[in-house]
Amino acid sequence: MTMLHVPGYPRIGVRRELKFALERHWRGEITEQALEETGRELRLRHWAQQRDAGMSFVTVGDFAFYDHVLEMIDLLGCAPARFGFRGDESPLSRQFAMARGTPAQPALEMTKWFDTNYHYLVPELSPDTAFTAGPERLLEQVGEARGAGHPVKAVLVGPLTFLWLSKMRGPDRRLELLETLLDAYRDVLGRLAEAGVAWVQMDEPVLALELTEAWRTALATAYRALHGSGPKMLLAGYFGALGENLSLACMLPVQGLHVDAVRAPQELLRAAQALPSDAVLSAGIIDGRNVWRADPDAVLAQLVPLRERLDQRLWLSTSCSLLHVPHDLGQETDLDPELRGWLSFARQKLDELRVLGRVLDAGESAEADALKAARSALAARRRSPRVCNERVRQRVAVLDAGADRRTSPYGARQAAQRARLELPCLPTTTIGSFPQTREIRAARADHRAGRLNQVYYRAYLQTEIARVIRLQESLGLDVLVHGEPERNDMVQYFGEQLDGVLITRHGWVQSYGSRCVNPPVIYGDVSRPAPMTVDWTTYAQGLTPRPVKGMLTGPVTILQWSFVRDDQPRTETCLQLALAIRDEALDLERAGIGIIQIDEPAFREGLPLARSHWDAYLDWAARCFRIAAGGVRDDTRIHTHMCYSEFNDILPAIAAMDADVITIETSRSHMELLNAFAEFHYPNGIGPGVYDVHAPRVPSVEEMTALLEKAVAVVSPGRLWVNPDCGLKTRTWPETRAALENMVYAAQVMRERLNAETGSASGIREAVMK
Ligand code: GLN
Ligand code: ZN
Repeated sequence: MTMLHVPGYPRIGVRRELKFALERHWRGEITEQALEETGRELRLRHWAQQRDAGMSFVTVGDFAFYDHVLEMIDLLGCAPARFGFRGDESPLSRQFAMARGTPAQPALEMTKWFDTNYHYLVPELSPDTAFTAGPERLLEQVGEARGAGHPVKAVLVGPLTFLWLSKMRGPDRRLELLETLLDAYRDVLGRLAEAGVAWVQMDEPVLALELTEAWRTALATAYRALHGSGPKMLLAGYFGALGENLSLACMLPVQGLHVDAVRAPQELLRAAQALPSDAVLSAGIIDGRNVWRADPDAVLAQLVPLRERLDQRLWLSTSCSLLHVPHDLGQETDLDPELRGWLSFARQKLDELRVLGRVLDAGESAEADALKAARSALAARRRSPRVCNERVRQRVAVLDAGADRRTSPYGARQAAQRARLELPCLPTTTIGSFPQTREIRAARADHRAGRLNQVYYRAYLQTEIARVIRLQESLGLDVLVHGEPERNDMVQYFGEQLDGVLITRHGWVQSYGSRCVNPPVIYGDVSRPAPMTVDWTTYAQGLTPRPVKGMLTGPVTILQWSFVRDDQPRTETCLQLALAIRDEALDLERAGIGIIQIDEPAFREGLPLARSHWDAYLDWAARCFRIAAGGVRDDTRIHTHMCYSEFNDILPAIAAMDADVITIETSRSHMELLNAFAEFHYPNGIGPGVYDVHAPRVPSVEEMTALLEKAVAVVSPGRLWVNPDCGLKTRTWPETRAALENMVYAAQVMRERLNAETGSASGIREAVMK
């Protein structure tokens, strides 16, 4: 029988049970024990789903209460010393301290997991980090699975990927830690073998990167050193082609290799040829990153020759962990049946694997009905008139070559913008959202469920907007926002209003910790039937003489945070989105809005993993942004916002976006990023985030002034803005008020210092004009 498995399974629960349990625990409503119990229930349920669908093993070790890299930090005993753990804390309290920060210590940095929208916590290492294996929790889970009668495949983040994802302050000496790290891995592997685990999957998504020779050598060293210390090893590469690393991976002393056959179908045969004659090839043939039902004929055409060559050494799997897709299409009871037939979520993907396995084992007749259903759904999708909109295609086809250019260069625009709107030096602003209280969420839910009619809902949101405007005025912020109370999510909100895009009801995917997103599904040509934000923005502007910033999500981010159609190039879909956002920006401008922020937090995560493909992506992504922003007049100020990533290596592309102001995440890295902007001579305005909005702590005035000091040392004050790292929607009101009050005060302190330095008001004017 063909062996079937998945690299990982969604852990948040089909009804987001883990999210709600976590949040209740953080609010002090349930004990840690109760939270652990929820975790256990979810694991058991998810393993049962895997077994019921015919998986040969259940995957153990993919569960995490907050993040699987954080679980690894705990497993390897390398929590940063700054947290001062004594060793008698519970593992969960330790993890939550690192994930969320403590009154004394900021949280670990958080960043994107490869090219996904999942965030992991960055391990902090130093040259003298010691690792101590602590596999007890993992072994407990192995015990749970075995107790439930399941064969187990354990999964660990592999040592190279762990090191690669880690951060070391100062010179990069991470690889020097490899040897001691491997000792800890060997301990863990030994204990897994003792517990009777037959297979362990070593996740090494770094294999999809173009690694330097040092890292490739380290990879070989690592797996030679781990050889023989535990269960059989399945080395798992995913998220892209292994490229040059493929032959290296095939030579390592492991018992199997997992290949992402969705992103790199060409590598299946190469791997089959290069692997030793007793090694397993796990073909990740069902897409773990997207929601489309697979074409069984195309997949079988690839698998049949492999099966002939490898026989039982061919395993079937999804391309990567199913963490990145929603849990169960079965929940989508009110989804349009036509569209529903085109889709497949985690549970359905297990079934797809089962069907493929059966066909390989027993021929097509064994699954005739399932194959027929899949074929007819695919044929329907190809033919459907809902996919194609001629008007949109036409508009993209005849797009003017200059459509991505503002009328004048930055300097001239800045002068026009200053003439239109006088702002103080170091203007203060926020990134857009204000606290999304339980009340707001309840109102939105009531409205959606038809319990709150349109008139009341609107009035409610207007009251909320008015409150946010009054608060910002009283705090003394310079550029206001309406607070985004009408938005559940910055991408979904637009997805709901665009044609060609579908919103599911329970299609939740974990983003970080307890936070989940419900990515829209772009299934057809995209267009904007009506303005999407103008009403709320102009309402807010009507309440105040201060400028209100319009808030849009950029085309690259909408693309990146959606499930994108797989029947046309991503660039084409992105251009369609760009035109829709461009029209919205123009409508805002027409309605008198002078500052428009087009958020692109996902700009960087769209980068292909292989560096050699970066330029092509950056080119079209920056162009799409410019098309979205390029329609407005010179005196309309375009902001953009990016967060949670490293930007150092894409600064030219960020500059090429040509936004008038960029606000970026910098506080967790203590303004390190800003040095890169300074060295690069980033030409336009910058608002480096002066406080971390993802941690429940109020930053002090001193802390923020210190960051601003660093900022003015490298960016001329005339181009500097003062703002938090990101939107405030996850914060509470008291935190928000206190933090913004301190922020405005810090800006004031800084202005006074600058004033004192330059010695006179005219001095500061000169500084500002720089
Ligand atoms: N404008 C959005 C907000 O403030 C930006 C969110 C983000 O960058 N992720 O919520
Ligand atoms: Zn952000």
